[in-house]
Amino acid sequence: MAATATERKLLIGGEWVETGDWVEVRSPYSGDIVGRVAKAGAKEARAAIDAAERAMADPLPAHKRAEILVRVVSGIARRHDEIAAQIAAEAGKPLKAAKVETSRAMSTYTFSAVEARKLAGEVVPMDAAQAGEGKLAFTLREPIGIVGAISPFNFPLNLVAHKIAPALAAGCAVVLKPASQTPLSALTLAELEHEAGLPPGWLNVLVGPASEIGDVLVEDERVRAITFTGSSDVGWGLRERATRKKVLLELGNTTPVIVQADAEVDEAASKLAAHAFSFAGQSCISVQRIYVQQPVYDDFVAQFVPKVEELVVGDPGDAETDVGPVIDDEARERILSWIDEARSGGAEVLVGGEVEGDLIQPTVIANAPPELKVCREEVFGPVCVVNAYESLDEAIELANGTRYGLQAGIFTADIRAALKAARELEFGGVTVNEAPTFRSDQMPYGGLKDSGNTREGPAYSVHELTEQRVVIVDL
Ligand code: NAP
Repeated sequence: MAATATERKLLIGGEWVETGDWVEVRSPYSGDIVGRVAKAGAKEARAAIDAAERAMADPLPAHKRAEILVRVVSGIARRHDEIAAQIAAEAGKPLKAAKVETSRAMSTYTFSAVEARKLAGEVVPMDAAQAGEGKLAFTLREPIGIVGAISPFNFPLNLVAHKIAPALAAGCAVVLKPASQTPLSALTLAELEHEAGLPPGWLNVLVGPASEIGDVLVEDERVRAITFTGSSDVGWGLRERATRKKVLLELGNTTPVIVQADAEVDEAASKLAAHAFSFAGQSCISVQRIYVQQPVYDDFVAQFVPKVEELVVGDPGDAETDVGPVIDDEARERILSWIDEARSGGAEVLVGGEVEGDLIQPTVIANAPPELKVCREEVFGPVCVVNAYESLDEAIELANGTRYGLQAGIFTADIRAALKAARELEFGGVTVNEAPTFRSDQMPYGGLKDSGNTREGPAYSVHELTEQRVVIVDL
């Protein structure tokens, strides 16, 4: 284990628990062990649900929930650089991006605290119907119950924050299972919650075999909602099995962007070069498919490729690095095989396509037929495709030609074209003159089709994690 590696326990019912078994956490860059975490199984998962049930039997008033969430914001601020370094170590995320993620987690907690204080129902206009005359009715928003939360490796802090903070704001206790490859940031957040005064059982963190812990969350009837961020197959599989609970899904994408001939080509090239490759393309809304209108295609490529070549590829711990490793060897081999398929399928690799050290160089592929995996499936690596189109209708059809629908974008100077794209692109979000990788944490964020069935962002998550109860009073 590296000298700086940390050893962490699970959090169950307010206690830090060891199990005798350990999960090793390795740096995707160096392969060094950067931490080890006590390994949970079904027994610990049941104990965590018991603890969450005991916690919810003694509800926390909204002002206390809000105060705790605000104290976590201060805790993250106090340990900002240490937390960013931990993200870089466990996920291989370049420090620049890890710092941004850490600041965004503060924003997620801040907005969640606001939601805790705003949680309210509404008055129903009862005399609007004859049957309602002489009655007063209003709604209450009640916590849905225990929330099972499952998070992915790629934003090990802020996507955990998007699970925990709104659930606590809604008054729900949480049993969290972070990704096994990146559990350290989640446990740091749990430490901060604990220090902020969150009473025992409101947050429980389990690290261990996904299917074993997942099965308990699916099967235990006391878990009323599962909130999952990760790959589509796993997410929809959970939903099929947990038919009697709410299952909220935030899944993948093959993010398209359209560059019209009237766009500011240099601005589009700069923004897209940065956003196709940040965190080596391992964001659910990393730019993957770029469609450029024929008259400016050559100009776009001539500006885009040098900007991709300028990206600094290397150690995620270096302040200058833009692009680091992908999460593991299996992901690297899969991505390289998709690049090979593109080469043999008639596409042209304009830059990259090779490995240096163990790092896939930022790769731009041109003239890729739509049936190739790099066009059809989520690459989740430092690879994007640039193809030409003639008309906006054709570009919208190409962009929509996917089973996914999370975010898409358009660059154009024409407001009508922008609004046509906003209406006709079948995605949960459409950016105009901004890379579709953009997200601010208070936005409603989520997808259509295979990309999911909900919207995250504290206000929207709190809504999903509360039940509406109507109270009718006979006057
Ligand atoms: P993943 O393999 O689906 O894993 C996500 C989480 O699910 C991990 O905690 C994993 O645990 C757990 N899991 C795996 N199999 C499970 C099962 N049978 N039952 C219960 N839990 C199970 O996804 P990933 O590779 O970490 O993340 C990448 C994917 O997430 C991409 O598709 C990306 O687009 C998507 N994503 C979506 C969003 C969004 O907001 N829409 C944001 C970020 C990422 P283990 O780690 O222990 O296997």
